[in-house]
Amino acid sequence: MTRDEIMKIIAEKNVNFFRLQFVDIFGAMKNIAIPRSQIEKALDGRIMFDGSSIEGFVRINESDMHLKPDYNTFVVLPWRSKDGYNAARIICDVYKPDGTPFVGCPRNNLKRVLADAKALGYTMNVGTECEFFLFRRDEKGLATTITDDVTGYFDVEPDDTGIDCRRKIIQTLEAMGFEVEASHHEGAEGQHEINFKYADALTAADNTVTFKWVVRSIARDFNLHATFMPKPVFGVNGSGMHTNQSLFDLDGGNAFFDEQDPLQLSEVAYKYIAGILKNARGFCGISNPLVNSYKRLVAGYEAPVYVAWSASNRSVLVRIPASRGMGTRTEVRSPDPTCNPYLTFAMMLNAGLDGIKNDLPVPAPINADIFELTVQEKIDAGIHSLPASLHEAIQELKASPIAEEALGPHILEKYIEGKEKEWDSFRTAVTDWELNHYLSRY
Ligand code: GLN
Ligand code: MG
Ligand code: MG
Ligand code: MG
Repeated sequence: MTRDEIMKIIAEKNVNFFRLQFVDIFGAMKNIAIPRSQIEKALDGRIMFDGSSIEGFVRINESDMHLKPDYNTFVVLPWRSKDGYNAARIICDVYKPDGTPFVGCPRNNLKRVLADAKALGYTMNVGTECEFFLFRRDEKGLATTITDDVTGYFDVEPDDTGIDCRRKIIQTLEAMGFEVEASHHEGAEGQHEINFKYADALTAADNTVTFKWVVRSIARDFNLHATFMPKPVFGVNGSGMHTNQSLFDLDGGNAFFDEQDPLQLSEVAYKYIAGILKNARGFCGISNPLVNSYKRLVAGYEAPVYVAWSASNRSVLVRIPASRGMGTRTEVRSPDPTCNPYLTFAMMLNAGLDGIKNDLPVPAPINADIFELTVQEKIDAGIHSLPASLHEAIQELKASPIAEEALGPHILEKYIEGKEKEWDSFRTAVTDWELNHYLSRY
């Protein structure tokens, strides 16, 4: 989209409020809202903000930042139009006053990593499958974990009370230019999934943060609370963000496809898988960023626990969906939707490239249900587990040989600092579990 096209839509649709969006290193969407009079200034990248209070950004003395909009991300917000007044948003990159990209901006960082991949001859395509719960709000409007929806996987209305809300979410996404491919009720009560079309990695990251924002905003209009928290309810499935990914050649062919191979996967695909498996423990702190993320990565709930791959079974970390040709891809099943997609894609891309650059051999696929294997069988097959806690994941991230290259030293340092604080706050808290188990017994 060009500047002129944007100005035309702004006039035609009577856009009076304009939001300049970006994400912090933890993936939280931030925005600065400006009135119509400032739009041209914004489109020219002349809006400044004070970055000092944004998590993981900068020190006080270097806090003036510029927002440089990406014209392709301009979109009118269908649910923010009232009385003929419309709102629109545009996603921005964060730049320093001297005109150079700010290294603490996750979007700039992903662009940098994608440029490195391009120099090696590849572009990355990504499709995310974000699962979420729709819960009731209480009388005060606060979120609960209560749902009156008692249906399960792929069930149909009228039992599914979230259906109207889900439909409105889909209509809204479509009005914003998303190509929604499918939606279904997920395994747990109150749990849903909406799939939209894959895109180049940068667009996919933009779409993922936008998707989460739309879901939460529309749910609010239905007096529901949408949450992407990985494990909001003990004893039922949590919410994942399966991340389908493939590399394409610069001439547009799928670099993962090879008709001659028994599984129709190319050497590049096998090496990419090898790199993902080798680095899976190392990128977990990024793809699964919360204390709560590790309550999801446990046996029995369709979430991966072990580092293995397969073309046929779903208990593994990396699955190869059946589609071939241009749709050939790997599905990494560990990430959850609370991750920062810009950082997660950067880490996974570097993990895969590690496999390609270093000719890593792919381990044998595990076609049995891993949860059925004995401890000895797993040891014999060289199958490791994912980190069991945020603490372990942070240690692995610190030790990861690809993290610094994938995230840059600034983001890596600030991210670890923030996550160590989060872990410490959890570690020192006295939880309900402890009170339930210990208070009356000791
Ligand atoms: N909810 C599961 C997870 O945590 C995935 C279920 C599915 O998509 N089949 O990853
Ligand atoms: Mg799915
Ligand atoms: Mg699913
Ligand atoms: Mg899936």
